[in-house]
Amino acid sequence: MTSPRVAVVTGAGRGIGAATACRLAADGAAVGVLDLDGRTAAATADRIRAAGGTAHAVVADVGDPGQVKGALETLAAELGPPVILVNNAGVIRDRPVQDLSLEDWDTVVDVNLRGPFLMCQAIIPYLREQRWGRIVNFSSSSALGNRDQANYSAAKAGIEGLTRTLAIELGPYGVTVNAVAPGYIATDMTAGTAARMGMDFAKLQQMVAAQTPVRRVGQPEDVAHAVAFLVAEDSGFVSGHTLYVTGGPMR
Ligand code: NAD
Repeated sequence: MTSPRVAVVTGAGRGIGAATACRLAADGAAVGVLDLDGRTAAATADRIRAAGGTAHAVVADVGDPGQVKGALETLAAELGPPVILVNNAGVIRDRPVQDLSLEDWDTVVDVNLRGPFLMCQAIIPYLREQRWGRIVNFSSSSALGNRDQANYSAAKAGIEGLTRTLAIELGPYGVTVNAVAPGYIATDMTAGTAARMGMDFAKLQQMVAAQTPVRRVGQPEDVAHAVAFLVAEDSGFVSGHTLYVTGGPMR
């Protein structure tokens, strides 16, 4: 029997990252569950093991080069060389541009753009050695522009350029690099947005669903499914693409 592919999912303690880690494990990968929050990372790894899968939790800040390198070394020692990377970790700090502090700009760019860059840079030696790999970065429908999200929108638009460039650089090594751009997904992140707007979360979801062609909001599993497609063995000719997972074209 061949050993399972080793996947690393960042921000996998909750939300879309947790759903993606569970999905990739169910599809047969051994999963490194990376998060800033050790408690939630351990819970996701426990969930995977309880379902019969293989997982190892590791704590790291994706914006810190030393922690990123150390986390990959730990996962390589525990599970084997990592060959699938899902750069899911993300944060928002929403404000109109004129009120946006430099700190809020830096925090959002550090986690959403510098983090994926550092993770990609650190995993490249493993991918080149294995001559196979899959990277999925997280953009957002906000990359196209969204009120109060200049920092997030700029970081996510940057992700799409990083993705296309890496696809060109890593293609010769059997590595594909793609991005997913979720629309409105029901997670703690969007619950936080509802709270900030002083709106009931269920009510906000109903409003968003009414403006979405498929007439519902997305669930973490909808995005996990798109990631599972992009990292699949058979997806080797899909690279440099950003897949919008938005329930239809946005108006
Ligand atoms: P979430 O806030 O529910 O979960 C994010 C996870 O990332 C948390 O577990 C958090 O601890 C972790 N994290 C934060 N900073 C980190 C760091 N520096 N290092 C390591 N881990 C860190 O978010 P979510 O809604 O599941 O979103 C996941 C991804 O999808 C993000 O990249 C987000 O920008 C993107 N996205 C979400 C939506 C949505 O509607 N929820 C829409 C478009 C894009």
